[in-house]
Amino acid sequence: MEILFEWAQEEPYRITSDVELESSRLVEGHASFAAVPHIDATLARMKDHYEIEGNISTKVMIPCARCLEPFELPISHPLHLVLLPRPSYPGFVELELNDDDLDTSFYSEEKVVLEDLVSEQINLALPMRPLCSPDCKGLCLTCGTDLNRGSCTCR
Ligand SMILES: [Zn+2]
Ligand SMILES: [Zn+2]
Repeated sequence: MEILFEWAQEEPYRITSDVELESSRLVEGHASFAAVPHIDATLARMKDHYEIEGNISTKVMIPCARCLEPFELPISHPLHLVLLPRPSYPGFVELELNDDDLDTSFYSEEKVVLEDLVSEQINLALPMRPLCSPDCKGLCLTCGTDLNRGSCTCR
């Protein structure tokens, strides 16, 4: 689904849409979507660039980093994207201008492809070590028992 920048020429354009994505878009190979991702955002034209602000939400089934059990992780990811026209001079190298909550990217065509934007942002939102619960006990390192479900006799 494409959002054309020209739709925001006069006034900010509201993007509210479900975005169907294949689970293969998730960088974590064992993760899959448990809900259709949804974007609720505004595309606004600024003086010399565009900005997208809003939120992406979905649910992902992902294995717990401690006990390895898949669990449903709700994701609600705020968006603050600054879209700059890609400089056309030769040798331009894209620099990652990273602020904490400010993401800058360059466009060469005056549009965004929602599937690409949403999958990229969900991958950014996935935690490095997802935990099924903050006090997940994990697996016994010796016998592999899931210590959330029972105890073992190892020390
Ligand atoms: Zn766990
Ligand atoms: Zn054990």
